[in-house]
Amino acid sequence: MPWREFIGNRHAVEQVQRLVATQRAQRTVVLAGPEGVGKTTMALMLGLSLNCRNPPAAGDFCGECASCRQAVPLNTLAELISQALEHRAAEVKTAPREAAPLVLALHPAVRLYPPDGDFLTMAQARALIHQSQLRANPGSTWMLIIPEFDRARWATQAALLKTLEEPPPGVAIAALARNPLALLPTVRSRALVLTLAPVPIDQLAAALPAAHPPEGAVSNPADAALRARLADGCPGRALRLDLAAYQQVRGEALGLLRLAPQPEAPGYALSVFRLSESTRADKEKFETLIEILYSVLQDLVHLQSGYAEGIRNVDCTRELRQLAQQFSSNQLTQAIEELDRVQAGAGRNIFRPLALESWALGLSR
Ligand SMILES: [Zn+2]
Repeated sequence: MPWREFIGNRHAVEQVQRLVATQRAQRTVVLAGPEGVGKTTMALMLGLSLNCRNPPAAGDFCGECASCRQAVPLNTLAELISQALEHRAAEVKTAPREAAPLVLALHPAVRLYPPDGDFLTMAQARALIHQSQLRANPGSTWMLIIPEFDRARWATQAALLKTLEEPPPGVAIAALARNPLALLPTVRSRALVLTLAPVPIDQLAAALPAAHPPEGAVSNPADAALRARLADGCPGRALRLDLAAYQQVRGEALGLLRLAPQPEAPGYALSVFRLSESTRADKEKFETLIEILYSVLQDLVHLQSGYAEGIRNVDCTRELRQLAQQFSSNQLTQAIEELDRVQAGAGRNIFRPLALESWALGLSR
């Protein structure tokens, strides 16, 4: 699965390939961009390029040689990482995190240090430094990947500073960040920062059918276009999106918004209660619901301001148009601001259903 299969961001792809081709990749690269845009995939592909035995072109990798074959399949990468994190969550219930720092091997020469809990731990930082000092096998290069490095505490970033500024020979490091400005300035200034942008919707929709998502190919064009739009142009999110589940939760959210102007109507309080209760134990559903509410509210704002081509939930445009007439623009602004508050307090379990309920009941004001 060589570089041409990476979706979008050709400019960054070319820069990375050039680094490998000119043997300047043994350094720290910061890959910046939104969730699902391809940062982890790009870092793994960089690792494969550095270790490919039979590159089809300078800076590329073949996907078939003895080295490439040992990598985890790229189309199951997200799935594997989330499984490993689930396993880890169970593991740390009985053993302290520091006992064995979390690290995943994506290939014999590629290591990933995902946030252990909320962020990269000091034990993981030490493990990374140790790993960087081990000599790689002849002809191979360590690729050490730190996802969500912008969430790491400053003390942890500082502990890694020396390694990041100048990785030992035979080591390449990729620090991934949604917000590169949250990285220590010294990290930013010494690294090569590449920013990955969302892929234009048409381009992503055209690329999706060939991209083999783990749960089966996206075969029909309408489905691909909808995914591309809902995922805001981020390939990873488009491929992982569980469309049926999304549409189901969105149906509940739309039902709520429909009833909001008549809070006295029979069924409103009950549907608010049901929806918020269903998120009590299910953090993932809560997050999905919040994300969906944002995307629906933004669509309503777009419709009210006459920018219909900006809407994401294109498969329910008619319903959105009706809703856009139900709310004043002030109400929408307020609903979005209140949702920000709900999201900010989302870490606390008890808080979730209550916050959602008060948000929903506030809609009618
Ligand atoms: Zn190869």
